[in-house]
Amino acid sequence: RFITFEGGEGAGKSTQIKRLSRHLEDNGKPVIVTREPGGSPGAEKIREILLSGQARQLGPRGEAMLFAAARADHVDTTIEPALKRGQWVLCDRFSDSTRVYQGEAGVDPAYLDLLETAAVGGIRPDITVLIDVPAKIGLQRVSNRSAAGADAPDRFETDTLETHERRRALFLDLAEKEPDRFVVVDGAQGQDDVANAIWLAVLAIFGD
Ligand code: C5P
Repeated sequence: RFITFEGGEGAGKSTQIKRLSRHLEDNGKPVIVTREPGGSPGAEKIREILLSGQARQLGPRGEAMLFAAARADHVDTTIEPALKRGQWVLCDRFSDSTRVYQGEAGVDPAYLDLLETAAVGGIRPDITVLIDVPAKIGLQRVSNRSAAGADAPDRFETDTLETHERRRALFLDLAEKEPDRFVVVDGAQGQDDVANAIWLAVLAIFGD
């Protein structure tokens, strides 16, 4: 079972992934948690290049290829083997982030689809949890996180509020197009309510 989590900056994806993974483990399910860009040693190297801004000189199409390269390695070395072992795979961002972020950066969607097919082959999420939060709230959380001494904002987190709002709208468009795959959760609620909504959706879709 393959579940991806999507949403803008500060939506609360990593917190909710941890909570769902604990909940599944408490129910006796074998789980691995992974993330993009990254999730395998090779892809984590590419993550460093992407998030530090070093790849900026590449231009959006080249940058999209780097995301695809990272994803191919992640799928081959982490996701597919885990699925074959029968583990539940919870992944922080996946293909939908590419559609949204690289799409918003101006890369042709047909080109992104090509890269996607090349990178993932037949590995597609069973469900995608979209944690939807207004950009203002998300960015406020990110800046609180940075002020509290957690990681410094990466190069995407410093984009303008309008850019973040456009991405939010793009995520919601994707969800509307594939209602069977997407579960949209209101991320402005309290953490417990978000976790509950996700757990109910997982139960409804996979049973127990
Ligand atoms: O999930 P996290 O916030 O750690 O994501 C890392 C960064 O990479 C984010 O700022 C996100 O905006 C960016 N990203 C991207 N394109 C992707 C995946 C992530 O620009 N396909």
